Amino acid sequence: MQCDKCHAAIDRDEAYSLKDMTICEDCYLDQVAQPKTCDPWAVYMAKQTGVGKSSLTQLQQRLLEYIRENWPVSKQRICSDLGLNDDDFQTSFSVLRHLELARACQVNGEKRFLPFQEEVEEEDQ
Ligand SMILES: [Zn+2]
Repeated sequence: MQCDKCHAAIDRDEAYSLKDMTICEDCYLDQVAQPKTCDPWAVYMAKQTGVGKSSLTQLQQRLLEYIRENWPVSKQRICSDLGLNDDDFQTSFSVLRHLELARACQVNGEKRFLPFQEEVEEEDQ
């Protein structure tokens, strides 16, 4: 299936419904101003203190460093290397995403994570 918003290919279990649209996780996070998985206090604190590493939790910091060193990296690899479950990953990533420190993108039809300012070139298939 496809995301109605960015037209990225998404797996059935990664699809989110919003109003009458089926959208991917990233568009969902973008749509929902205060995602439930995100800790509003962590975001607030981080914004107050600037986008400094010190405002991130240890887990968020580890995740960010991992993404910076290994991008573009899949969620599966992140979770297995850092020993995270889906919830831990989702919660930490949504904070990084909201602080514009990291983002997700599609690389050759696969979802990968990378530092916010980086671009991934798709390889010709
Ligand atoms: Zn999308």
